[in-house]
Amino acid sequence: MPNYSLPVINGADIFPVHKIICIGRNYAEHAREMGHDPDREPPFFFFKPQSALAQNGDDFYYPDFSHQVEHELELVVAIGKSGTKISATDAADYVFGFAVGLDMTCRDLQKEAKKLGRPWELGKGFDGSAPCTAIQRGGLDDLEQFGDLVLTRNGREVQRGNWRDMVWSIPELIAQVSRYIKLEPGDLIFTGTPAGVGAVEVGDQLEASLQGFSQHLTLRVVSDAQ
Ligand code: MN
Repeated sequence: MPNYSLPVINGADIFPVHKIICIGRNYAEHAREMGHDPDREPPFFFFKPQSALAQNGDDFYYPDFSHQVEHELELVVAIGKSGTKISATDAADYVFGFAVGLDMTCRDLQKEAKKLGRPWELGKGFDGSAPCTAIQRGGLDDLEQFGDLVLTRNGREVQRGNWRDMVWSIPELIAQVSRYIKLEPGDLIFTGTPAGVGAVEVGDQLEASLQGFSQHLTLRVVSDAQ
């Protein structure tokens, strides 16, 4: 059994990664840039397999089955406790900590899947499609120390957003997901991307940060054809 885990910042612990849950359309401006009306379409979620996880600093292999790989910069919530049908008011008890992640997406395959009414896994769940920093322990109160999410591509800012602008808050997301799926220690929730998603190319250097968060997520985009 492969061991999927993330380091915990300032601790000897590791965080064993279990499910990777990704929220769609959780920022109004991003929903609009994808052609949707955020007021009428509540957020939904999908999964990535554990094999999508990549560590901070790992190279990102541009998949050879896509011609349009895009970055989605996201705040990641790490779950530390098991629960189903969690109410938003109890959600704080289930938060282990936070991280910064990228929901790397083959937009061409996702668009094709949407058109054909098929699931999104081919475009969303490929190997290495969920790079993530180490986890910083903390509860919902600790969120206040964080500011904007910022992504630079080759040193140029390409994406910026603030977690306060989420359509659904973290407690609401935990309530919504756990209504359908049991949350367990080790689960990661990628909470959706703000506006500004865009393509990456082989040779790019990406750096994702969250103001007030000690680690930056860095990766280099390399060719898969070697
Ligand atoms: Mn996403």
